[in-house]
Amino acid sequence: MKIAFFGVGNMGGPMAVNLVKAGHSVTAYDLSADLLRAVAADGVQAGDSPAATVAGAEVVISMLPSATAVTGLYQGEQGILSQIPDTALIIDCSTIDAGTAKAVAADAAARGRVMIDAPVSGGVGGARAGTLTFICGGPADAVERARPVLEAMGKKVFRAGDSGAGQTAKLCNNMLLAIQMIGTCEALQLGADNGLDPKVLSEIMLASSGRNWSLEVYNPWPGVMDGVPSSNDYQGGFAVDLMNKDLGLAMDNALRAGTRTPLGALARNLYGLHGGQGAGRLDFASILRLIAGQPH
Ligand code: NAD
Repeated sequence: MKIAFFGVGNMGGPMAVNLVKAGHSVTAYDLSADLLRAVAADGVQAGDSPAATVAGAEVVISMLPSATAVTGLYQGEQGILSQIPDTALIIDCSTIDAGTAKAVAADAAARGRVMIDAPVSGGVGGARAGTLTFICGGPADAVERARPVLEAMGKKVFRAGDSGAGQTAKLCNNMLLAIQMIGTCEALQLGADNGLDPKVLSEIMLASSGRNWSLEVYNPWPGVMDGVPSSNDYQGGFAVDLMNKDLGLAMDNALRAGTRTPLGALARNLYGLHGGQGAGRLDFASILRLIAGQPH
């Protein structure tokens, strides 16, 4: 398939490369020329402009940092919605609020285009390994149309419901992830303060009832696990700023829905404090430094 891909950052870069590996022809566009050069080495062609990138595309995928970036790309003054071939399927994989996802998809539909939201879970490791989980919202037939393309980048494809539902499900997951990561850091720090080896403690908790994703594939303690951000000075991975965005969206949503989320609110405060102290661009596992009372 001919695929146009917008946003080749920490997640989008390896996702676009996996599409090439699966035999698709991928043209990408990003605000960073350096990132486009990096993926060119793996066969991702660079588009000269957003409009040139979508010319002749059968599928358009975006993996952008925010709702503003998504509306700017599709709907702004230079919006590409009407330049995308009307036969193409549009898949937005960015994590944004459900309201914006619904509004952009409705705008696409008004212009005769089909768009679904398909935010992902699985982190940068999952993006590289092609094991992401896609959490889709939109018409069932559109999600089925997207499935073969999504399966080239991930292992599981869920349909949470209508347009925007993928984003709502993703926010529920990320609120839980934030709470779980903070709890994991607290438990490891408590063990270390009592003279335990964090690696041994991790093995014990992994075989016990405290087992969770952060402990299993994303251990926050430097040196316990290879190939994760904590062992690389918290570089790469999922930025604290992005976690703060997701927690903000979750809290807005909870307010509207009337849901009580005391731990989600506490997680938002702790990540907000951490980001405010200058850790915004570090991976979110660096919340360990806040717990440990270390400078970011
Ligand atoms: P990132 O900042 O590394 O990448 C985003 C890229 O989008 C950047 O390269 C930026 O230059 C580009 N961009 C911004 N506006 C653009 C535009 N108008 N046109 C083209 N490119 C544009 O962020 P990321 O970590 O790859 O995250 C991307 C999305 O995935 C976010 O919504 C995030 O919440 C979500 N997400 C991230 C992770 C993770 O572990 N990093 C996991 C799940 C979901």
